[in-house]
Amino acid sequence: MLSVSLDKLVPEYVKRFEPYLPSKPDLELMKLYGCDRLFRLNNNENPLGPPPEAREIIRRFKPPKAAIYPSGDSYYLRQKLATRQGLDPDQYLVGNGANEVIAFVIKAFCQEGDNIITADKTFAVYEWVAEFSGFEVRLVPLKNFCFDDQGMLERIDERTKILFLCNPNNPTGTYWDETTLRRFLDSVSGRQIVVVDEAYFEFVEKEDYPNGIKLLGEYSNLVVFRTFSKMYGLAGLRIGYLVGSPEVVNVIRRTCVVYSVNEVAQEAALAALNDGDHMQRTRILVSAEKAFLLRELQRIGLETQAGEGCYVMIRIPISDTLAYRKLMAQGVMIRSMTGFRYPNWIRVSIGTHEAMEAFVKALRDILA
Ligand SMILES: *Cc1c(COP(=O)(O)O)cnc(C)c1O
Repeated sequence: MLSVSLDKLVPEYVKRFEPYLPSKPDLELMKLYGCDRLFRLNNNENPLGPPPEAREIIRRFKPPKAAIYPSGDSYYLRQKLATRQGLDPDQYLVGNGANEVIAFVIKAFCQEGDNIITADKTFAVYEWVAEFSGFEVRLVPLKNFCFDDQGMLERIDERTKILFLCNPNNPTGTYWDETTLRRFLDSVSGRQIVVVDEAYFEFVEKEDYPNGIKLLGEYSNLVVFRTFSKMYGLAGLRIGYLVGSPEVVNVIRRTCVVYSVNEVAQEAALAALNDGDHMQRTRILVSAEKAFLLRELQRIGLETQAGEGCYVMIRIPISDTLAYRKLMAQGVMIRSMTGFRYPNWIRVSIGTHEAMEAFVKALRDILA
């Protein structure tokens, strides 16, 4: 076999980058850890699944349509989002999950020598995409578990192109209120793109929590991310979007891959927007079970960090990777947080009462 000159072919920044290893399918994990059922509390998925309207669309999807390319730019979904949010359909770009639109934005604005700024302990994909694309990532430490606005502003230089804010933050649940976000946008003053990732927007009920989409008219450098993976229960279909000012979105459109969003996902997302009370039922479940979980953890005497969103962080007296394996053996999958730069912490998604009880019982067991 002819060998390939990888040493010369692979850019240094790709050589340096550690690939992310996705976890094995549930069935394989169950065999590996010897459990006969598995509560998935690692990915902040909706415990109620997709709304009934979306279920119906998925069930009725006509198999011959699988042979036909979908709308290349999610035409009807963009129309519906625009009508609801009072914007123009051309202000939206839909992607294969919000994960994909992160890459669209970075590719549109960064070139060799540029940098992006985000927090050290947040959703890691902003950092990863920038890094394996060869751009500098400036990580600003969280302050009291929260994005540090002043710290981020201080790291800006003439090569800074994008600032990423996760609001509320995954994994800490903290958020910037409207005053803080406006003050930050005023300071940036259009010199950089500001991305506000609102993956958990629909879970937040706080009065002072800003709706980024409502601020688009005032700040044309603002880009907002939303997803159908969390509240709308469509994580398996991979669909999310970005929304911004017409001029900024017209630039990002150039780096956006068409046809990456499949037809079932587009139709299910459209139906999910018609949701009757699914969103409300999810909010009620999450807030009741989060309160239950926090009470139980307090009784065990563990430090927690919880805020908005459908997840809670827990500090544990053993290594988080060991805790992951021990909890798996009891049929509970959580997120170990060394990868989030929080060694000895785990993140638990809020699930059904049955799942929360199973988690608490398993946790007591492994710590006993
Ligand atoms: C889950 C999540 C996303 C991405 O979700 P997709 O499934 O790719 O749409 C983006 N940002 C944050 C903070 C998330 O937690």
